[in-house]
Amino acid sequence: QAVSSVEEGLQKKYNYSFDKLRKNAKTLSIDAINPFGKEMIFGITYDAKYHLWVTVQGSKSDVLYEFYNVALLYVTLFILIFLAFYVLFDNISTSEKRKNEELVFQAQHDTLTSLPNRTYMYDNIRNWKSNHREKYHVLYIDLDNFKNINDKFGHTVGDKILVEVAHRLVEFFDEEDMLVRQGGDEFIVLRECTDEGHIESHIQRLIDQISKVYHVDNKEFRIGMSVGISQYPKDATTIEELLSLSDTAMYEAKKRKNSYCLFSEKMRHNNVVRSDIEHELRGAIEKNELWMAYQPQINVDGTLYGVEALVRWDNAKLGFVGPDKFIAVAEETGLMRDLGDFIIKSSLRDIKSTYKELNTTFSLSINISVVQLLESDFLENLLKVMEKERFDKSFLTLEITESLSIEDLDEVLPLLHAVREEGIEISLDDFGTGYSSLSVLRELPINELKIDKSFIDKILYDKREKALVQSIINIGKNFKMKTLAEGVESLDQVEELKLANCDIFQGYYFSKPLSKEHLIKYLKKEK
Ligand code: C2E
Ligand code: CA
Ligand code: CA
Repeated sequence: QAVSSVEEGLQKKYNYSFDKLRKNAKTLSIDAINPFGKEMIFGITYDAKYHLWVTVQGSKSDVLYEFYNVALLYVTLFILIFLAFYVLFDNISTSEKRKNEELVFQAQHDTLTSLPNRTYMYDNIRNWKSNHREKYHVLYIDLDNFKNINDKFGHTVGDKILVEVAHRLVEFFDEEDMLVRQGGDEFIVLRECTDEGHIESHIQRLIDQISKVYHVDNKEFRIGMSVGISQYPKDATTIEELLSLSDTAMYEAKKRKNSYCLFSEKMRHNNVVRSDIEHELRGAIEKNELWMAYQPQINVDGTLYGVEALVRWDNAKLGFVGPDKFIAVAEETGLMRDLGDFIIKSSLRDIKSTYKELNTTFSLSINISVVQLLESDFLENLLKVMEKERFDKSFLTLEITESLSIEDLDEVLPLLHAVREEGIEISLDDFGTGYSSLSVLRELPINELKIDKSFIDKILYDKREKALVQSIINIGKNFKMKTLAEGVESLDQVEELKLANCDIFQGYYFSKPLSKEHLIKYLKKEK
């Protein structure tokens, strides 16, 4: 019975008969019932050498028990090892993730103030906008005179103030607003536009907040802030453009300091004009489009004191462009150096040849931009040109404008003294429009005060302006400076100014600015 059970099992499981197994010499295992009716597992093979059938058998339950025991051990072992690896990899990946997050945070935040930076802004702007921001303002914030604090009190103090400014900004704006440190003392804010008129009063409050006193290292500091504002989508639709427009508006605000300015269409127009001017100005010197005009300056007795050199530009595309427009562009675009060289060389050459032609001498005033004064080799170059032209130093006056900021003044003061030591004179142009205090005036090595045209315009009908001009002249006298009235347009003005003791007059009443040829004709006639 057992043999037939085995045979049946072989047939069923392997489709083998005993005969086939004998020929193949394989070892097979099958389930079968033993003579006592118990379920067994049989191993069977045929040993051809001894012509014997070899079988082993064991109780199926015993074998299975053995098998499950071992299997359980292996499975448990496997699970344990798997768990260990899982925990290990999970740890590695969490710490990687944390490191990654830290790196991303560092890349997107400023180390000093911990505020988000530009990278953060660009990475998150889509997300921010998608939160139903149909209209929003872009604020460009720049601290006033911050460079001054860094220069005078060091970067540590500067940094502490910046951190406090950042802190006040965070306090002031809502969590919903995107506040970014753009770099240096500049910040950017994106703020949803809720009520059109609201932004102005809001920003005014911010300015008040920022300009409150700062206590750093037992010292008190005050700092102003200029804010330019553009609006999406009214002014522009891309963030780059909105930033550039709010930057433009910020520069307008900077002119007043500690104030804000909304971007306007007029500014856009000016921007276009400026870029046209910049483009054309680049080739102006080579194309011979620039030339110098000279406006006579007259002594009280009617004789010629000197001339002021004023640059002129006739451009093929833009026509005549006034210096009040293109000088500023040249200053901002790095073109002032070449332009300034041209102005100095041409003026010295023109006037030197006029001296020779008329066998005379008189004073020459040249307007010098702050940008030129800040060039480290300015005086060296000037002296070189003067030597080349054999121009007598005592006939040259440099006009510097009074609207020069106090920081710049600090920086150029040594140069001004060096200029004076060379025997070259200095005139303070547009006097009365800037902020010079009497103490600044005393510090500056100045020979001449040039009273701004805006005062001269009013002396005939405004008693207060007249008194003001009188006091400017008195101050000049006290400091032993010459006083020159510019923009004199009528005889009545001349008489008033003479009564006030003014020394020199310049203006259309005497002559408009003249080309070199016309100046020579004018001088010949005056003789
Ligand atoms: P500024 O130095 O105050 O020059 C005086 C300006 O007033 C000149 O204008 C002159 O033509 C004008 N003016 C003179 N007398 C009268 C008058 O009686 N009535 C009126 N209405 N105007 C008068 P301009 O030449 O257009 O120059 C404007 C400004 O451009 C100058 O103001 C100066 O700041 C700047 N500028 C001109 N030439 C140069 C230059 O060569 N170098 C530099 N750095 N700046 C220059
Ligand atoms: Ca001038
Ligand atoms: Ca002037």
